Parts: sequence; C-alpha cells; structure tokens
Amino acid sequence: MSDCTFCKIVAGLLPSYRVLEDEHTLAFLNIRPASPGHTLVVPRMHARDVWEISKISHGEVADMVHRVAALLKTTLAPRA
Ligand SMILES: [Zn+2]
Repeated sequence: MSDCTFCKIVAGLLPSYRVLEDEHTLAFLNIRPASPGHTLVVPRMHARDVWEISKISHGEVADMVHRVAALLKTTLAPRA
C-alpha cells in the first residue's frame, strides 16, 4: 500500500537497519527501541493489522521472530 510505512521499508523506499530477511518476512531495528536489539518483524505482503495476516503468514513471521531471537541471544548476551 502506498501510504504504509512498513511496505516502504520492505521496498527499500525508507531507510532501515535490516537484521534478517527472507522471501516472506523482513526483520529490522525499531527506530525507538525499548531495549537493545528491539527488532520488528513484518510480512513482506501488506496487511492492515494483525487480524488481516493469514495463518501461514503468521507462521512465517513467528519463524523469523525465532531466528532473530537466536541471533540477538548470541550478539547481545554477556560474554563469559
Ligand atoms: Zn504495508
């Protein structure tokens, strides 16, 4: 959608720091992080809100959230 900020980020029309991405989803850092590594994961296909996302897309987003969490654990965890 032309006025959707997330679609503009996915398309590269707005800048973002991309953490991970795949064919279905994009993970990028929040511009107002609540904590270090605060990452947003969005589907590449536009959705107005969470209720408009298909069950399959929810699964793809959840998979990316899991991948991002694993990455953040290795990059943000205190080193022994
Ligand atoms: Zn959108």
